[in-house]
Amino acid sequence: MDVVAHGLWGGALFCPRGRKNFLAGFVVGMAPDLLSFGAFHVMRPGWIVGRLAGEISGPPPFALLPDYVFYAYNVTHSLIVWAMAFFLLWWFMKGPPWLIFAWALHILCDIPTHGKSYFPTPFLWPLPTPFVDGITWATPEFLAGNYLCLVLVYGGLIFYRRR
Ligand SMILES: [Zn+2]
Repeated sequence: MDVVAHGLWGGALFCPRGRKNFLAGFVVGMAPDLLSFGAFHVMRPGWIVGRLAGEISGPPPFALLPDYVFYAYNVTHSLIVWAMAFFLLWWFMKGPPWLIFAWALHILCDIPTHGKSYFPTPFLWPLPTPFVDGITWATPEFLAGNYLCLVLVYGGLIFYRRR
C-alpha cells in the first residue's frame, strides 16, 4: 500500500483519541516505509524529483537500491520484530504502547497488497516467511477502492464525533 494511505489508516485508528494521537498514528503508520525506502529517497533526491516530474515511472529497480533498504525493509515489516518492540516498550513505559498498533496495521495491510515480484512482506522475518503473492497496491482500481474506503471511514469518524 502507498505510504500516505498507510499513514491515513494508522491515523484512523487513533483519530477518536484527538488530533495529537491522530498525527502520531499517521507517522507511526508510515514509519515502516519511511525507515526503509525513506533513507533511499533522502540519499537520492534526484530519483524522486524525476519521478514527480514524470521522467521516471514505477518503483525503484532492485539494482538501484542499496543493501540497507532490504535489511531495513525486513526489520520494519516483521510482526516478530513488532511484537518484540511492543513488549519492550510495554516494559519500559509500564503500560501497553497502543500507538505502535499503527505499525502492525501497516504490516497487515502490506501482506495482501504486495506481489511476490517486488518486496513481498517478510512478516515472519527473521524466520522463513511464506510470502503472499498479493494484489499490487499501485493499480488504479486498488488505489481508488482504498481511498474510497478511507473517505468512508473518515466520514464515519467525523459523523460519530459530531453526535
Ligand atoms: Zn510497507
